[in-house]
Amino acid sequence: MRLMEDFLDLAKENTEKDLETCGILGAFLEKGTLYMTTLIIPKQESASNSCNATNEEEVFTILNDRSLYPVGWIHTHPSQSCFMSSVDLHTQYSYQAMIPEAFAIVLAPTDTSRSCGLFRLTEPDGMNILKNCPETGFHPHKEPDNGSPVYEHCSNVYKNSNLRFEIFDLR
Ligand SMILES: [Zn+2]
Ligand SMILES: [Zn+2]
Repeated sequence: MRLMEDFLDLAKENTEKDLETCGILGAFLEKGTLYMTTLIIPKQESASNSCNATNEEEVFTILNDRSLYPVGWIHTHPSQSCFMSSVDLHTQYSYQAMIPEAFAIVLAPTDTSRSCGLFRLTEPDGMNILKNCPETGFHPHKEPDNGSPVYEHCSNVYKNSNLRFEIFDLR
């Protein structure tokens, strides 16, 4: 997908310094389908295993002005494998609580088995665990009692490379 290549290019400088990069994905809604059209890279503070958007009001202004929904987010794991950390799961919870279709894209250029993943929390089990988790920082999550996972690969995202794609780099 073009988006992922473009994002990796924009993240390159950070990736070489073992720093994460994150972005927010905007989509418009038409006849019940969300069309992802926009990548916003906010001002951010990053480390090798985390990335936090700052000045988020700038992101919301762009979304609001264009009537876009924050349908997902994308971030790099410059030296870690392709998975969702506990901090990532909490971030994903806040997106998915807002927009049930929301997803997370993780790009892990050094993961030789899988360099790209699309993830969501499972409904309702994963969502409930995160909803009731008071912890912050890196911590383990217990597995749902019924054996289902906390998060899963997301399959209902369609890639349409004909869609015009806009990038805002606010850094
Ligand atoms: Zn992560
Ligand atoms: Zn937690």
